[in-house]
Amino acid sequence: MPPFSFIFTPEMKLMSEENVCPACNSNRVQYALKVGDYDLFNCTSCGFQFLWPIPDDESLTKLYDDHQYHDEERYDSSTINPRVEVIWKKRLNVLHNDLGLKPGSLMDVGCATGIFLKNAREQSWNIVGLEASPQAAEQAQTLLGKDFVEIADFMQYSSEKPLDLVTMWALIEHVRDPKAYLKKAHSLLVTKGWIALATPNIRSFSAKWKAAKWRYYIPPFHITYGNPKSLTRLLESSGFEVMKIVTHFRPIAFFSKNSKSLKLYQKNKVFRIAMKVVLSPLKLFAEQFHWGETIEVYARKKD
Ligand SMILES: [Zn+2]
Repeated sequence: MPPFSFIFTPEMKLMSEENVCPACNSNRVQYALKVGDYDLFNCTSCGFQFLWPIPDDESLTKLYDDHQYHDEERYDSSTINPRVEVIWKKRLNVLHNDLGLKPGSLMDVGCATGIFLKNAREQSWNIVGLEASPQAAEQAQTLLGKDFVEIADFMQYSSEKPLDLVTMWALIEHVRDPKAYLKKAHSLLVTKGWIALATPNIRSFSAKWKAAKWRYYIPPFHITYGNPKSLTRLLESSGFEVMKIVTHFRPIAFFSKNSKSLKLYQKNKVFRIAMKVVLSPLKLFAEQFHWGETIEVYARKKD
């Protein structure tokens, strides 16, 4: 027996009171699609897409302890991939040059192996990283120094001094209650402090085209999927004002997982460059209208 019954009205509104959007708590949700053994739903109030039932804390802890999510490259800070490092430099560029932030105190929540923090420290930020995975935190401590990285639960974290900036790169899609994370960040920031986050964009071309085969559908690791509108609503209802949204077009998202063409794209530089040239008009269009595969949102505390 399923944990609850699905009862649809002719308008396809799900009537179960248990199934509510984790971003806005609305129960105006519609069935979206099945990915593997998992069902995904769309919130018609705010636009979030989410896994339902949402795994409980115990099963999520077990999932990450089993270490299936962690691949070797992700947890090896000794070989920093220059193509990945470019992303961090671009994000710091947005903060400094587009939004005019001056370096201050920065917490990166879910800092993984600490490569973003390394780049931020090189640009004069006072850094601290939080990481739940001991394997990743150990790598970050080796890279940055033991005092700069804590193995800690963000929701339990307390800081003596308020922070100027909290970053959450590729984090909120992993958590059961994204709004609670944003409110927690709000409580740790100075007046007019900043938050910056990145997450897969459910409004992207590749999400529409690949459907259940979309690269970023990895349930149950990814629980929620936002778009520019839903993330703006989520941040505004958590006490922030959105100042800038950027999406990035990623040709890799158009290949199926484990496909021969994906392997060719990853390993063959000539093929990769050719694909980028062919897809460059689509990239221009996608990024202009926020249809890129990953979305970055930069927001400031309202008070
Ligand atoms: Zn919602």
